[in-house]
Amino acid sequence: MQLIFASSNKNKIKEISAILPSQIQLLGLTDVGITEEIPEPGTTIRENSFLKAKFVLEFIKEKNVSVFADDSGLEVEALNGAPGVYSARYAGVPKNDEANNKKLLEELKNKTSRKARFITIITLIHNNETFYFEGEITGTIAYEPRGKNGFGYDPLFIPTGYRSTFAEMSAETKNTISHRALAVQKLAVFLESRVRK
Ligand code: IMP
Repeated sequence: MQLIFASSNKNKIKEISAILPSQIQLLGLTDVGITEEIPEPGTTIRENSFLKAKFVLEFIKEKNVSVFADDSGLEVEALNGAPGVYSARYAGVPKNDEANNKKLLEELKNKTSRKARFITIITLIHNNETFYFEGEITGTIAYEPRGKNGFGYDPLFIPTGYRSTFAEMSAETKNTISHRALAVQKLAVFLESRVRK
């Protein structure tokens, strides 16, 4: 079975491919001829995840394909869930991880709670039906950036039960506990039950 993933990020495609059942051939956006950036006009992570999957399906104009998309964000309790759906461009356009981290620390300066969570919502459109898979990891926001690995808010996010930030962990460790990994594992379990052996 072929499955299209609404991403052109080769690392993400490789990582997710390894988790999905071996009968599935995962195709990225470039494999299906999509080179433009997919618009994300939604106001929630769930909406953007759905819109990305729908965009790909409409572009391909074929009813018999299965597509999934993911969308993620960081939600900070003391900021009423911000940056949330606006995580990538929190400090403005074009997106800049360092500026985003700086802004987050500034916004949290006088707050007592530093609780946060990362979430990923995957939308799968399979046989014209839509399914959602959610992954979440809770944690706290550090007082200064620590670590060089990863991307985005990794230098500031300390998962519950750990002392290190995501950016101080190896990719292998992060990829077994992350919000994205948990959502992909749920997708994999679902596909295992649907794919003909
Ligand atoms: P995306 O939907 O995976 O592109 O994530 C949107 C934005 O959320 C990214 O640009 C990052 O700012 C933030 N983000 C999502 N996942 C992570 C993560 O695992 N680590 C750090 N930041 C993340």
